[in-house]
Amino acid sequence: MLNLNNEERRLVKEGPRPPFKVTRHWLSLLNGQKDDPLRLQVVPSPMELLVDEKELTDPLGEDQHSPLPRLVHRYQDRVVVVMTGACALYCRHCFRRRLTGDDFRSISLNEMQNIAHWLGEHNEVKEVLLSGGDPLTMQDEELLERMDILRAVRPDLILRLATRMPVVNPDRITKSLARALGKRGSLWTVIQCNHPREMSSQTITALNRLQKQGIPILNQAVLLRGVNDDVTVLESLSRVLVAAGVKPYYLFQGDVAQGTGHFRVPLAQARALVNELRGRVSGLAMPNFAVDLPAGGGKVPLAPDYVLGEEGEGLWRMRSPDGQEGLYPDPSTKEK
Ligand SMILES: *Cc1c(COP(=O)(O)O)cnc(C)c1O
Ligand code: SF4
Repeated sequence: MLNLNNEERRLVKEGPRPPFKVTRHWLSLLNGQKDDPLRLQVVPSPMELLVDEKELTDPLGEDQHSPLPRLVHRYQDRVVVVMTGACALYCRHCFRRRLTGDDFRSISLNEMQNIAHWLGEHNEVKEVLLSGGDPLTMQDEELLERMDILRAVRPDLILRLATRMPVVNPDRITKSLARALGKRGSLWTVIQCNHPREMSSQTITALNRLQKQGIPILNQAVLLRGVNDDVTVLESLSRVLVAAGVKPYYLFQGDVAQGTGHFRVPLAQARALVNELRGRVSGLAMPNFAVDLPAGGGKVPLAPDYVLGEEGEGLWRMRSPDGQEGLYPDPSTKEK
């Protein structure tokens, strides 16, 4: 169904990490074209072998911010727990490609207990991102038991489940899983949908199951050349998400992960795209455009700057996303 050529066939068998893996559901969405944005996300490309010296195996410096195995503490109030390395489908643009693969087992009870103990002593941490890999590759019981270990120590924690499963294998979101997750309280789900064609009717059904249990859903998209580096595609992506009750949360500029250069959009072009998108869609439909600085520098918001500067005393020149300019008189400057 993917119509692999000889080189792709070789890369599928013995290419770079992450390994090749795709779901039946994803295959059912393909349009048969070589440049299908959905095909590009899953078929290894020879360009992945071209590694730039500025690219990194651990682009976010996560290993340096790891007080315990599988725990990333980069920001004061929130941590990431790497639940597993496995995913239902491997994305060629994955920035955790150093870890992702079926060979990286899921978190043990003991590892989770150690993390829970650490969280008990770090009350400044308020949010835990359950990430991976894809935590929903774990069995229901396996996952729920580990969530309950965290809850037992810190009932106040806000949990964020980061999963691509509703998009890549929507049948995984069974009614019983949705109900069980809904019972865990203060849980948000963050999905990854990069192209409007990924929002299939099956995916919308899966998302509805979670929403019926009171679980809010956010989307994190990655800006990818050939996939969504087009303002019409980004606009349509935002609209299908909002129509499904999913808030576009982030649009990420590509991290400098090894072998992903062919997906990265030059920053100037990316900023122009985002600026144009802001002029077209509502605040609700607008994601935060951001990039993770290499080596754990953190997330940087890349929103266009609409404040052009101060003109005279207390007069600020500004520009609206649709191109209008105006002056904002800032009375508080005069009072000083
Ligand atoms: C992105 C990220 C978070 C979450 O940041 P938000 O801006 O709250 O979504 C937390 N920890 C790490 C290490 C991250 O990379
Ligand atoms: S679902 Fe996430 S962790 Fe898994 S391969 Fe895709 S980007 Fe990487």
